[in-house]
Amino acid sequence: GIARAAGQRRYRLGVMGGTFDPIHHGHLVAASEVAAKFALDEVVFVPTGMPWQKSHREVSPAEDRYLMTVIATASNPRFSVSRVDIDRPGNTYTVDTLKDLRTERGPNTDLFFITGADAVRQILTWYGADELFDLAHFVGVTRPGVPMTPADLAHLPEDSVTLLEVPALAISSTDCRERVRAHEPIWYLVPDGIVQYIAKRGLYPAPGSGVPHDR
Ligand code: ATP
Ligand code: MG
Repeated sequence: GIARAAGQRRYRLGVMGGTFDPIHHGHLVAASEVAAKFALDEVVFVPTGMPWQKSHREVSPAEDRYLMTVIATASNPRFSVSRVDIDRPGNTYTVDTLKDLRTERGPNTDLFFITGADAVRQILTWYGADELFDLAHFVGVTRPGVPMTPADLAHLPEDSVTLLEVPALAISSTDCRERVRAHEPIWYLVPDGIVQYIAKRGLYPAPGSGVPHDR
């Protein structure tokens, strides 16, 4: 439109959704790499409320996952955290996340949804998939153990997803939780403040340890 022709620069906002139970260096490196390669002004991390794909396991309280995300991103001036998903009742669907962020940030913002290779393949199965690609550009980042080829994107709308190779960190939240339960170290897999927060809150207790999961 006229504003654009007049040179008003559009704001480039990366969106990193996740359960972040806990957030780890794989998430942070992926976000940092996409921010650099796509010249993003900001990356907002959005912890899920109720992740409908994960209803088979106990997910830590939203407030703990939110605070861990804040702790891990606090030192980066271009990283921020949004409560839109944890404050919205019911299941979390990415289409709602993107709509809420659009409303919040206004029409001068372009959204870039960052997602790992494992999730990229499932995009078409997501609720509201037909609308997703109008709301954001999708950036699929490589993830160790998850092979990804352009053929995986063959069924997605053209130019709706870009694949990006990021420095490989074979870290998952599942592995971090199992390590904590087994009293194995998670130092250097997650930021120092996250090691300390998990210990302080007693998250991921060993089975039968008698430590109540404080809700
Ligand atoms: P869980 O093991 O509990 O599923 P996770 O490590 O997969 O946790 P999520 O919160 O599910 O973490 O992931 C949020 C997003 O970050 C997803 O798009 C996921 O693909 C991506 N992601 C997670 N770990 C990595 C990694 N090591 N490298 C690149 N992307 C990652
Ligand atoms: Mg996952």
